[in-house]
Amino acid sequence: MPIQTWRTIISDMDGVITDTARIHEAAWKQVFDDYLQSHAAEFSSPQPPFSPDDYRRHVDGKARLTGIRDFFAARGLAIEEGTPEDPPERETVHGLSRRKNDAFLQKLEQLGVQVYEDSLRAFSAWRKQGLKIAVVSASKNCRLVLRRAGLEDWFDTIVDGLDTERQGLKDKAGQIREAAHRLGVSTQDTVLLEDATSGVQAGKQAGVGLVIGVDRHGQSEALIAAGADLVVRGLREVELQMEPEFS
Ligand SMILES: [Mg+2]
Repeated sequence: MPIQTWRTIISDMDGVITDTARIHEAAWKQVFDDYLQSHAAEFSSPQPPFSPDDYRRHVDGKARLTGIRDFFAARGLAIEEGTPEDPPERETVHGLSRRKNDAFLQKLEQLGVQVYEDSLRAFSAWRKQGLKIAVVSASKNCRLVLRRAGLEDWFDTIVDGLDTERQGLKDKAGQIREAAHRLGVSTQDTVLLEDATSGVQAGKQAGVGLVIGVDRHGQSEALIAAGADLVVRGLREVELQMEPEFS
């Protein structure tokens, strides 16, 4: 089906609309490297620092608690689950999750929110054309970031990490189904924009009609391998294809 026949878009936020994936990555690196360094003497083999590859493979696009569990599992390291009441000082999944959120908010304060120029242009055009647009994000800070960027009112609906908890949605595939439901369409009738391999997989799992991988940092092969129907370098390419009269 030609791309311009779609009228409903579901978009990830961090790394697609806002350049905040790098802030998440820096916050994760701070938390995991601190942990790995302070426990270095206990490991049976040396643990390299948290890498960009670790971020993309184990953490990006996932809920915070899942990211921590998956990173530790990938390194073959054990960590206690703890409870949601754990303070950031506790070395548990929940404690480290608090630490990561504190680090993210601090870095967000320092660096501010940058919106990708091509996203601003594309979403602005799609709104004017009356397309329905949902934002789906695993992040509980999604609305805060959109507000900082002045984009909170741009979208028909937002399904973020807080909704996930409130509505008992299981994962990103569940969030995508919820977004389509709120827009009154089937997931088959939607286009998904995603920069994370986990998000691309979730889109396929949810039965999205067209999954577009957004390659901001040279991850196109990984996005294709995860099941993306096509990969673009930026939303300008999608904008041109969805509304040919703009070309
Ligand atoms: Mg993302």
